[in-house]
Amino acid sequence: MTREPPPATAKKLARLGIRSRFDLLYHLPLRYEDETRLTPLGEAPVEAPALVEAPVRSTEIAFRPKRQLVVHCDGLALRFLNFYGSQTKQFERAIEEGRLVRAYGELRPARGGAEMIHPRYRIVAPGEPLPATLTPVYPTTAGLGQATLRKLVQDALEDEAIEDTLPAAMQRRYALAPLEDSVRLLHAPPPGADLAAAWQRVKFDELLAQQLQLRLARRKRREKVAPALPSSGPLLKRFLGKLPFRLTRAQQRVMAELLRDLAQPHPMQRLLQGDVGSGKTIIAAIGCLAAVDAGAQAAVMAPTEILAEQHYRKFSAWLAPLGVKIAWLHGGLPAAARKAARKAIATGEASIAIGTQALFQEGVEFARLALAIVDEQHRFGVKQRLELRRKAELAVAHQLMMSATPIPRTLHMTYHADLDVSVIDELPPGRKPITTRLYSAARRGEVLERIRAACAEGQQAYWVCPVIEESKDRDLQAALDAHEELRRELPGLRVGLVHGRMAPADKAAAMQAFAAGATQLLVCTTVIEVGVDVPNASLMVIEHSERFGLAQLHQLRGRIGRGARASDCILLFQEPLSDAARQRLKVIYENADGFAIAEHDLRLRGEGEFLGERQSGQPLLRFADSVADAALVDAASAAAEELLGGDEAPVRRHIERWLGARSDYTRV
Ligand code: ADP
Ligand code: MG
Repeated sequence: MTREPPPATAKKLARLGIRSRFDLLYHLPLRYEDETRLTPLGEAPVEAPALVEAPVRSTEIAFRPKRQLVVHCDGLALRFLNFYGSQTKQFERAIEEGRLVRAYGELRPARGGAEMIHPRYRIVAPGEPLPATLTPVYPTTAGLGQATLRKLVQDALEDEAIEDTLPAAMQRRYALAPLEDSVRLLHAPPPGADLAAAWQRVKFDELLAQQLQLRLARRKRREKVAPALPSSGPLLKRFLGKLPFRLTRAQQRVMAELLRDLAQPHPMQRLLQGDVGSGKTIIAAIGCLAAVDAGAQAAVMAPTEILAEQHYRKFSAWLAPLGVKIAWLHGGLPAAARKAARKAIATGEASIAIGTQALFQEGVEFARLALAIVDEQHRFGVKQRLELRRKAELAVAHQLMMSATPIPRTLHMTYHADLDVSVIDELPPGRKPITTRLYSAARRGEVLERIRAACAEGQQAYWVCPVIEESKDRDLQAALDAHEELRRELPGLRVGLVHGRMAPADKAAAMQAFAAGATQLLVCTTVIEVGVDVPNASLMVIEHSERFGLAQLHQLRGRIGRGARASDCILLFQEPLSDAARQRLKVIYENADGFAIAEHDLRLRGEGEFLGERQSGQPLLRFADSVADAALVDAASAAAEELLGGDEAPVRRHIERWLGARSDYTRV
């Protein structure tokens, strides 16, 4: 290849996901600057960027307010706070040669004319022609200037052909502009050009690549072999015959979907979505029994120790009577017990293993793992999720991922096209509604009164504080302080405390005490956010609720309303509220349904934030947005289905072009 960039530049390009000149073609501008017209100095818009031109008259090093280079031109001063000696010389040469400076920047009125601070500029001969097209501004990374990037892209555009991977008939059917024209136009549009069709084309192709890749992944999975787990084995039959409650219709449907998948000799990858309290745990237990019936093992992973312990207790209560042996691996185990648990898992003596992700991370060996279940998988980081999936794939196990964070339909189409999805869209009967109340922090006294009254009636309450970890905010009240204070304010009440920094054994003991009713008020951080199930708790106070995200508030609120009583969730907020916080609180106040809340959340935060893209550091989609471009997602999905029916080579080329160096789209 000609004109390879030097290694240092190549490294920076790699950071942008550009590994070849070919990738440069699809590195599209964020925006443009209009340098096609000169604005006469007298007419230049004030405080908006403009291109101006003027003869250079003199240079000066000024010291006030700071050391700076001032270049005086006719009617214009340019100021540079950071400058090189070579710059001064460059301007001096321009004066000698009678050349002009052409500067692009924001023009500000100043004494004796106008000034620009740190403009982008060029020295030009009088009458030098202006560019005919807009100047692209590309996404870039530290140390890689626009000028370098522009030159690289331009070279690539000159040397590389842009092949259209879509059949002509498909382009016509979806009314798509040709790819080559679109890409070239987006890099260098004439002023005033309509770019909508070009962007549509690029977005369509990107979404199509995503759909193709996810569908291929799904296909590949179907070719793999996994143990078929019987859906009518003796243990499962016995358990279904004496369930602790009657399954809801939604649970029955989801159970059937799960058991049908597990009975196939191919690895399942199913996402089970169900709002908080919809009863996902029992479905997990049913799946585990299918594995045990096959003489194999199942692993259940939870994001927190507290939740893992709760699962352990629940599974034990349900399954131990059937003679199923369950191992519980947790941080608080003494070395000997830990060793024994690992051994039981390795020999197959334990049929079910329950724990945090340590189950997969610490090299725990399974005798015959057939089903891996990840509970509250949305709580694991993006990287962890991928890792868990990979590990389970290596073990050729079936996978069930459970999530209480509903994913809006559009995101589903884009990010879950490789998964099978089951939804529990119904809550168990007899749930009492939760009343949400918004109280300013000034009403603390009233709130304390409510806690006293509830506990006097034999109910229990949570007091949730914002996370204390690494928090430097002084006004963020630590759970420790809150605990002390509430004990003082509520004499006679038994007040417990649990937070993320406690030793696992202490955490477990605190949760146990609350579950058993030994403590009446539990002061806690968001460690109780996931899964915790104490039906007698009917009151929740969330302090500084303005600091929590929507999904978090919804999850927290889901801890109550699980018993026979109507429940109250009091959101204490500190004034003044930011607009964003006010909007969030309004949504949580007005909505009880997790899907509706997720839709609002997506709208308020945007797709990247919603999906936790921040953690992964890489945008999932560069150009398309599955919310704003929902119609395109549908079209791309249909087109992918169609293309996969044909030749595989163009499909691979298409994926390679758009996916390039990006890891992949298979993120749950
Ligand atoms: P989540 O979906 O949030 O994990 P859980 O599985 O923890 O929900 O269930 C919430 C509560 O509802 C638990 O106490 C569970 O035992 C109970 N439950 C689940 N399914 C039913 C049902 N069909 N009928 C009655 N109670 C149920
Ligand atoms: Mg749960």
